[in-house]
Amino acid sequence: MGKGRTDVAQNVRYKRSRQRDSILELLRGTGRHPTADWIYQRLKGEFPQLSMGTVYRNLNILIEQGLVRKIDFGSTFDRFDANVGPHYHFICEKCGSISDLPLEVDPVLNDRVNRDTEFRARRHRIEFYGLCGGCRSLSES
Ligand SMILES: [Zn+2]
Ligand SMILES: [Zn+2]
Repeated sequence: MGKGRTDVAQNVRYKRSRQRDSILELLRGTGRHPTADWIYQRLKGEFPQLSMGTVYRNLNILIEQGLVRKIDFGSTFDRFDANVGPHYHFICEKCGSISDLPLEVDPVLNDRVNRDTEFRARRHRIEFYGLCGGCRSLSES
């Protein structure tokens, strides 16, 4: 095997698939950080041979390609996010929705850890909990 073969091998391994394109498109078009089952329910009409196994396999390839992130919120099911940049989440305690927060990620937090403790932080994750906009207006009306 000569030089520059790696890219070719990768392309062969991850031949483009319409299913995977659709999964990515669906994830990019929703802000709800869905479960694999939600994705499966949306796409099974379009792809009759789709199974939970193929959904998971395609999600794992997208994760490996850096296009999708798996987030563990300590719930029973993995959630998937096509927003792979650093961002904070808001979790509604009433309806369980998970939303991206339009807030800048604060690098000072890492600096504080690095300055005040023996640990060296590369990144951090923050989840805020409370009521989403929809649940708030329901509880106020
Ligand atoms: Zn809510
Ligand atoms: Zn997110």
